[in-house]
Amino acid sequence: MVSFFNLSNGALVESVSGRRLPVENPALAQVWASIPDSHAEDVATAIEAAKAAFPHWSALRAEERAVWLMRLAQAIRNHFDALAEAESRDTGKPLWLTRKVDIDRAARNFEFFASGIQHFASEAHPTDAQTLNYTLRKPLGVVACISPWNLPLYLFSWKIAPALAAGNCVVAKPSEVTPATAAMLAEICVDIGFPAGVLNILHGRGAEVGEALVTHPDVKAISFTGGTATGKTIAALAAPEFKKLSLELGGKNPHLIFEDADLEQAVDSAVRSSFTNQGEICLCGSRILVQKSIYEAFRSAFVEKVKALKVGPPEAEDSFMGALVSKAHFDKVQSYVALAKQEGARIWCGEEALDLPQAYQKGYFMRPVVMDGLSGDCRVNQEEIFGPVVSLMPFAHEAEGLTLANDSRYGLAGQVWTRDLNRAHRVAEALETGIVWVNCWMVRDLRTPFGGMKHSGVGREGGWEALRFFTEPKNVCVQWSKD
Ligand code: NAD
Repeated sequence: MVSFFNLSNGALVESVSGRRLPVENPALAQVWASIPDSHAEDVATAIEAAKAAFPHWSALRAEERAVWLMRLAQAIRNHFDALAEAESRDTGKPLWLTRKVDIDRAARNFEFFASGIQHFASEAHPTDAQTLNYTLRKPLGVVACISPWNLPLYLFSWKIAPALAAGNCVVAKPSEVTPATAAMLAEICVDIGFPAGVLNILHGRGAEVGEALVTHPDVKAISFTGGTATGKTIAALAAPEFKKLSLELGGKNPHLIFEDADLEQAVDSAVRSSFTNQGEICLCGSRILVQKSIYEAFRSAFVEKVKALKVGPPEAEDSFMGALVSKAHFDKVQSYVALAKQEGARIWCGEEALDLPQAYQKGYFMRPVVMDGLSGDCRVNQEEIFGPVVSLMPFAHEAEGLTLANDSRYGLAGQVWTRDLNRAHRVAEALETGIVWVNCWMVRDLRTPFGGMKHSGVGREGGWEALRFFTEPKNVCVQWSKD
């Protein structure tokens, strides 16, 4: 059993309560670690430390803060294997995936914003011959970063890195479901002597430590990624204090596959974009809309490839999917498969028996599910499932495809597959999503605005958007006389 601790004021500490929460390995259904069950008192202490650290940290030159972020990035790279293993053990996702994506990206997040802050500039507006307006962008103070379980260190660092780069001090809360790599980052901070109080990491439950953080009067901004219902609670809690909010929430992402698409590429990409990370990525497509003339060809090629995907132990190189993150999430996803049947779906694959080694038989594994025959407005096509379940729907023409795609309260990421350049631009423009991929998926450039519209979020992360969020603009207007 591994014991993880909070990072508060530069030290690894137990919570004031002394109580602990278990951390489960979902592939084995076994508890392997524990974290502090922190509360408001722990939040208050961490915030005091962050406030005390702020004057010095915010006064450093951008290149000095960048040096610290680069040290963090390098330390993540130095601990690459241990972090990749812990991420896989904590989430149930394949080890090859945490090695290929999660940990490398966490290091890159720090590298990217270490560089970004050195290029970040504010505007000047020369108004007339004697008047100049210029904008100062100052760090906010103490900010909260709250992240979900699906891409633990990747999304945790995606918030912390720009917040620190911009000169803020941070109190961060990783998901209690997958806290291991954030806790290891805390250990790394202590190892490299990261300045005390600048980054504090508190573990515990959302309703306790999360809410205490969100409502604390000295927290100036909240950067949150997680479910839409939690986002709504946080927005309501933060509103009376007019805190700055960045909310990255749920999705129900549409793919639109037109009859002129490269079918092979569209099928291959749909397999990846539906089931990578067990379908537990906010950007995964879950509603695949296919033009009628190619619907059956697409479905049979897609189902054949999905049936061939290997679900198995996270350590096995050939496991495309590992386990779902927890029993609660597994039950939720299964309940949507049951609901789909009640709603009249035809299940094309996903119910075949799994062939798992003995040690993994209690783990939360399921085969990827493909279904069709449902209307666009049924619950399965409207509610976020966030697992390896996709629903196919045919459409006759572009307008109908777009109507189906936009018939959602969510608006995170859409995909368009076509060889027609005019259509690609037209549909991309009309899709009500914050991100559109045309003939690709998950091609990421960290400079681009990242986030969703409608119930998928408020604000954008990435590049300048993140640095603007974590700074307060102040306009200074100077007028001078001619003599
Ligand atoms: P969640 O909302 O349950 O939890 C997210 C974080 O918020 C956790 O750290 C949790 O402890 C904390 N939290 C919970 N209640 C809180 C409260 N009342 N006050 C403060 N903090 C609270 O989400 P999850 O189940 O961990 O993650 C899955 C969800 O995240 C999915 O809906 C998914 O779409 C979404 N997500 C969105 C993006 C994006 O970029 N839009 C990325 C990844 C995941």
